[in-house]
Amino acid sequence: MLEVTPIPVLQDNYTWLLHRAQSDRAIVVDPGEAAPVAKALEGFGLKLDGILITHHHGDHVAGVGELTGNGIPVYGPADSTIPHLTHPVREGDQIELPAVQAKFDVLAVPGHTLDHIAYYGEGLLFSGDALFAGGCGRMFEGTPEQMQGYLAQLRELPDDTLIYCGHEYTLANLTFAAAVEPDNPAIADRLERVREQRQRGGITVPSRMAEERATNPFLRWDQGTAADNAAAHAGHALTTPAEVFAALRAWKDNF
Ligand code: ZN
Ligand code: FE
Repeated sequence: MLEVTPIPVLQDNYTWLLHRAQSDRAIVVDPGEAAPVAKALEGFGLKLDGILITHHHGDHVAGVGELTGNGIPVYGPADSTIPHLTHPVREGDQIELPAVQAKFDVLAVPGHTLDHIAYYGEGLLFSGDALFAGGCGRMFEGTPEQMQGYLAQLRELPDDTLIYCGHEYTLANLTFAAAVEPDNPAIADRLERVREQRQRGGITVPSRMAEERATNPFLRWDQGTAADNAAAHAGHALTTPAEVFAALRAWKDNF
């Protein structure tokens, strides 16, 4: 079985550690800091065999340089300026990682940054800052059309897909979700669960796609009362999914 372990780095980032029980090789996703990753590898008795990067932000790549001393492969977006990449990849590529006996498809998920990619395979999605538990990243570089476009694609992934995102933002995201759809019991339930988890110091990631579809406002432009309430908040009619997305994103940015 492919095991995925969180390594908390920086303020609220997660670097994901992938390995299989019978092997001493590991892959990490988005090492925003080297020391905690090196410490985790040593603690588990694992050798680093590859790095996957989702986008160019420092909190996802800053540890790469220190971790690549032994010339291991570094996968990341081709249309980017990320240093230390050895394997630039783009939408449609599939990467094979013998160290963890896994294959991942590369998905383009532009908007938070234009270079943003996600890795999907083995029933897992490594989504970086493109899709969070209960939310999505801020739109720093792309357009609402781009972001809503990839969210519509991600929403089609199987119910049981486990989503490993880059930050512990779930409580704030669901607090916002509950403001968008105050009448949605699935959101209220999840908010309560996440609040309890966080009070105990627990980690709220990964989440399942079915749960995201039911509670993440950025996947609900045509569901429940999300679009109506976004329009009411914006003060004008919203006629396309991208307009609903833009209104929700702007609302969340000032929430
Ligand atoms: Zn980012
Ligand atoms: Fe980030």
